[in-house]
Amino acid sequence: MSHAHGYAAQSAHSPLAPFSFERRAPGPHDVRIDILYCGVCHSDLHTARDEWHNTRYPSVPGHEIVGRVTAVGSDVRNFKVGDLAGVGCIVDSCRSCPSCQAGEEQYCDAGFTGTYNGPMFGGGENTYGGYSDHVVVDEKYVLRVSHDTDNPGSSPEQTLAAVAPLLCAGITVYSPMAHWKVGPGQSVGVVGLGGLGHMAVKIAKAMGAHVVLFTTSESKREDGKRLGADEVVISKDAKQMEAQGSKLDFIINTVAASHNLDPFLNALKRDGAMVLVGAPEHPHPTPTVFNLIMRRRTIAGSLIGGIAQTQEMLDFCAKHGIVADIEMIAPAQINQAYERMLKGDVKYRFVMDLAKLDKAA
Ligand code: NAP
Ligand code: ZN
Ligand code: ZN
Repeated sequence: MSHAHGYAAQSAHSPLAPFSFERRAPGPHDVRIDILYCGVCHSDLHTARDEWHNTRYPSVPGHEIVGRVTAVGSDVRNFKVGDLAGVGCIVDSCRSCPSCQAGEEQYCDAGFTGTYNGPMFGGGENTYGGYSDHVVVDEKYVLRVSHDTDNPGSSPEQTLAAVAPLLCAGITVYSPMAHWKVGPGQSVGVVGLGGLGHMAVKIAKAMGAHVVLFTTSESKREDGKRLGADEVVISKDAKQMEAQGSKLDFIINTVAASHNLDPFLNALKRDGAMVLVGAPEHPHPTPTVFNLIMRRRTIAGSLIGGIAQTQEMLDFCAKHGIVADIEMIAPAQINQAYERMLKGDVKYRFVMDLAKLDKAA
């Protein structure tokens, strides 16, 4: 066992505070990673505040982890001490069901083990995530970070911190875009310019699509273009929404709150699909069925991505020089960061610098 320090919520209504706990000693297949950076996902906030009604407390969120390997078990083949490593949302799964066999561990029939909010296989234990100083993970669920950290204009540390959000935000938008075969010649809508949305704009553009960003925030218009959007639509403006009627092949909807889906469905062409990845606390009030049947439109959902595809996404982003736009915070600033995230006041992902963790607890 090793003593770990981190930040935890003790209940839905208490702010996150310093927390210490034990991690298992690395088993034969395990990698121990000292965490350098951890992205702050809106799912962390939903979980810390029990908005999905399934939170196990204490809750140590964080599933966008980049760190350095400090120990490996005797049977570990793919990592050695000193390597950079990433951990995303999944740290275990049954490994034998059809989804696991297909490399889609996120849809494991037995339910995958989340990096936080457990439970562990074969026991009721909780798992604790990346708002902490180190983590121990089976190498099968550990990712390789292949970004070039030798960039003009960005220190190696900044680059690594900006890679962290790819481990959830990146894969969550990459996976459905790969599944629905987004590519050149297609028009792709991205709804919401937050952590997931800004990654979707960058990745859709790198896949060769014409990208239309839908945002509620007029102030994000210029940023949307800078990030790669060909068009920016203010979604609160009915006229601008109507002008997009039946134009898009595919939409990825990242909005973290309940909203009317119909204006976005109307933007889809015949046979177009809108994939919901945003996971709001309360259900959406729509769609109106006629908006689906009139043009054989599809509405679908998608959950993060499997381990092999997460590696594929990291390598794709490394090749295209894609990282997140981040604002670095110390762990002690996490509660303030959550409040700003709720106001849409983040450009475009908070990343926690674990070197600044107060280990007094
Ligand atoms: P985020 O950074 O907070 O971004 C959400 C964006 O949605 C905002 O920036 C905002 O963009 C837009 N928005 C519009 N109205 C909103 C409202 N009333 N409240 C909040 N946002 C509103 O969140 P994120 O980390 O990208 O996560 C987005 C959602 O995806 C969350 O629900 C999260 O739990 C979920 N998620 C799902 C998966 C999955 O596997 N499916 C994985 C990760 C996260 P504009 O200002 O541009 O309008
Ligand atoms: Zn996430
Ligand atoms: Zn399985």
